[in-house]
Amino acid sequence: MDKKTEKQTLLHKDEKYLWHAMKKYNPDGTIIAKSADGVWITDIEENKYLDGQSGLWCVNVGYGRDALAEAASKQLKEMPFYPLTQSHIPGIRLSEKLNEWLGDDYVIFYSNSGSEANETAFKIARQYYQQTGQPNRYKFISRYRSYHGSSFATLAAGGQNQRAYKYEPLAPGFVHVGPPDCYRSAYPSDNGQCCMQAAEEFDKTITWEISETVAGVIMEPIITGGGILVPHDNYMKRVREICDKHGVLLISDEVINGFGRTGKPFGFMHYDVKPDIITMAKGLTSGYMPLAATAVKREIYEAFTSTDTYDHFRHVNTFGGSPAACAVAIRNLEIMEEEELVKNSEELGKWLFDELQALRENPHVGDIRGGKGLLAGIELVKDKHTKEPAEELAGSVVKYCLEKGVIVGKTSDTVAGYNNIITMSPPLSITKEELQILIT
Ligand code: PLP
Repeated sequence: MDKKTEKQTLLHKDEKYLWHAMKKYNPDGTIIAKSADGVWITDIEENKYLDGQSGLWCVNVGYGRDALAEAASKQLKEMPFYPLTQSHIPGIRLSEKLNEWLGDDYVIFYSNSGSEANETAFKIARQYYQQTGQPNRYKFISRYRSYHGSSFATLAAGGQNQRAYKYEPLAPGFVHVGPPDCYRSAYPSDNGQCCMQAAEEFDKTITWEISETVAGVIMEPIITGGGILVPHDNYMKRVREICDKHGVLLISDEVINGFGRTGKPFGFMHYDVKPDIITMAKGLTSGYMPLAATAVKREIYEAFTSTDTYDHFRHVNTFGGSPAACAVAIRNLEIMEEEELVKNSEELGKWLFDELQALRENPHVGDIRGGKGLLAGIELVKDKHTKEPAEELAGSVVKYCLEKGVIVGKTSDTVAGYNNIITMSPPLSITKEELQILIT
């Protein structure tokens, strides 16, 4: 069968049997990927694409890493499964390694996806307050435009309501504040003032909600899927102060920010803060195996273990922290260390941001955000003065790039009006020459 006929046959079966995430059936825009190496994807017709999205913001070390396949294979042969209701060696070793990356004393709970890592964080926070004498603390504060997952509670935490409203009522107790969107704030030219105003919304909202009812704040240090919103350096620090003032836990969602994406091991490390709970997934295994983790400060963990009057955490998922996934994660982190990929992300991220500045002269480029790691957003507008979002243009740019063999992303909320931001998050192993191809 020639390649074209093979593609047609597969597309037919694809349409018949496979329900795709997040898109209408569109044979023209469907890549049937066959293999991948480095930053390149090859489809079944042997077309090559530079993956400027790292899959779904996750293939941090790039594709084709034999070392990760070998780590999985070795562990699958030795012991394919054992639950973490007991323990196993890769689970212990990975938890120790994550503490090295986190630079502090955290206890790790494993699951399979970013959504589960955040669900776990919410349950830990609520139970923590239940058994430390503040049982009324059950609410969580998060931001519009954030994304924290696809389950009921994480959808409720997220601030992209177009994804959520058809499933309401969701989990109760989630309250939103505005994001640090300085391009569209009342202080567009003053990132500091815009972000400080945005941070103060947490203080006001927690007070108005009655702080004794609030358990936690959840935030990505840099909002990614909501359009690459890089806040002022003092923003997250101020949010941390506000959490401390009200006795509220700070949960840092590092599902995308983590593992070098922002040019530091974790996003919060840019901002001189220590979160109480840190959630991670995606880059933890660079997408080679499903694995997620919820890292919890020791003091919180001890509220579940230290006296007979406390209860343990009645939460389990069968596959969370499976031995092979942990073995892959360990090897993945070793590769990042050996090849200094966090540094590469930091340095090339700055270079990328500088190179993109030339686009500001284009009448449809309203804003360019990034500069922290291999993460960039280009906000397209119909007119620079009105800032009306250029949604169709953004769609055409994505299509054009695909035709040229380059995959970039786009924000997706049409109702809230930010379907107009082109996003880039290539593998951290990318070279400057490949990055040049991505942006030309
Ligand atoms: N948190 C953030 C910031 C994310 O971007 C995502 C997914 O894109 C999630 C959580 C949910 O992760 P998962 O899709 O693995 O459930």
